[in-house]
Amino acid sequence: MATSSELFERAKKSIPGGVNSPVRAFRGVGGTPVFIDHGEGAYLVDVQGKRYIDYVLSWGPLLLGHAHPEVVEAVRKAAGRGFSFGAPTPGEIELAERVRALYKLDLVRFVNSGTEATMSALRLARGATGRDAIVKFSGCYHGHADSLLSEAGSGVATLGIPGCPGVTAATAKDTLTLAFNDTKGFHALMDEHGAKVAAVIVEPVAGNMGVVPPAPGFLEALRERCTKHGAVLIFDEVMTGFRVAHGGAQALYKIDPDLTCLGKVIGGGFPVGAYGGKASLMDRIAPSGPVYQAGTLSGNPIAMAAGLATLEVAGRPGTYEALERRAKALGDGLAAGCKAAGVPAQVQRVGTMMTLFFNAEPVTSYADAKKSDAALFGRYFHAMLDRGVYLAPSAFEAGFTSIVHDDAIVAQTLEAHKAALAAVAR
Ligand SMILES: *Cc1c(COP(=O)(O)O)cnc(C)c1O
Repeated sequence: MATSSELFERAKKSIPGGVNSPVRAFRGVGGTPVFIDHGEGAYLVDVQGKRYIDYVLSWGPLLLGHAHPEVVEAVRKAAGRGFSFGAPTPGEIELAERVRALYKLDLVRFVNSGTEATMSALRLARGATGRDAIVKFSGCYHGHADSLLSEAGSGVATLGIPGCPGVTAATAKDTLTLAFNDTKGFHALMDEHGAKVAAVIVEPVAGNMGVVPPAPGFLEALRERCTKHGAVLIFDEVMTGFRVAHGGAQALYKIDPDLTCLGKVIGGGFPVGAYGGKASLMDRIAPSGPVYQAGTLSGNPIAMAAGLATLEVAGRPGTYEALERRAKALGDGLAAGCKAAGVPAQVQRVGTMMTLFFNAEPVTSYADAKKSDAALFGRYFHAMLDRGVYLAPSAFEAGFTSIVHDDAIVAQTLEAHKAALAAVAR
């Protein structure tokens, strides 16, 4: 079997940068991406047969780990019945009903990615309010739609792209960007521009600059000022949904947004996104209303089956308690390991999302995150990879756990952490 390096060289001849999504290229940590042969439970297995404990989990979707038997069975069954019909199926209703109940959505529309979900939610907000401007927060990533790339997190942060070529000045002008957790700045911005703002979009727990929880009062301020100015509050829960809590950040912090975007976990590893919320807004979506949005593969039956099976397992009693207990053990252990090694670090965690920042101070914003020691992270990343632990290849990303990341896997990870810190601090 070819090595990862050989495959990467070959990939670069056919695919830009050798990858189909930028952060996969390891630019943030150096070296060559690991090419994957398969996944099983909490493990990834590379093309040479080396096993890694996986904390990327496809960047969040795999709440049940890889190839969970119940999801495999559901997918197999669905695939045998045909792949796509371009006509409604019962599975779409079942997934819609399940998501609706937990996220208090009057109506929900399925799309194929988180990007489509946020892009469509913004169009709806603009269509409903007749306004153009949107507010986003730096370090938050909402997919790669034009209007959402300014000061974006995830790969945009990793690669340090300032303004994205190809986004027109007219589009960029309508995006007002503020620091995450800048409650005071937000009040001032709304005092000045509130009447022009169609939507405020936020990751209620930021995950795409690394995990940054909302400061007390921040989400409340967003809710209050959106209501006051008639702007639509959009919670982008594509990452936080089913991760920070069963009912997402809106349940955890008890804030009701007007629209919610979902993705990742709800597709169980298949391409799915969703946006939904109040009927007064969602009724404006075609064919009920004039705001157009469509998709050849939207509500794909195999993706719906994978999502349903995933949410079925996730919804069983005790699941979130077990997830929380083990994620906490991991987070506490990582922090203790850094302390023992004398390495200044912050472990920031909400539910099954966490980031280890090599930073002496708590990270509350993108500016703080950027002060983290990215070079040290690169060395640590490779030291962990060598020891069979696969972390997100960037200092500005969240790591994820699943129901199959059990106590033994946590313990094994903490051993590797200790050894990796000793190696990089040398
Ligand atoms: C991943 C992510 C997206 C984009 O989803 P894709 O499926 O990659 O298009 C949007 N918002 C948030 C918060 C995300 O984490």
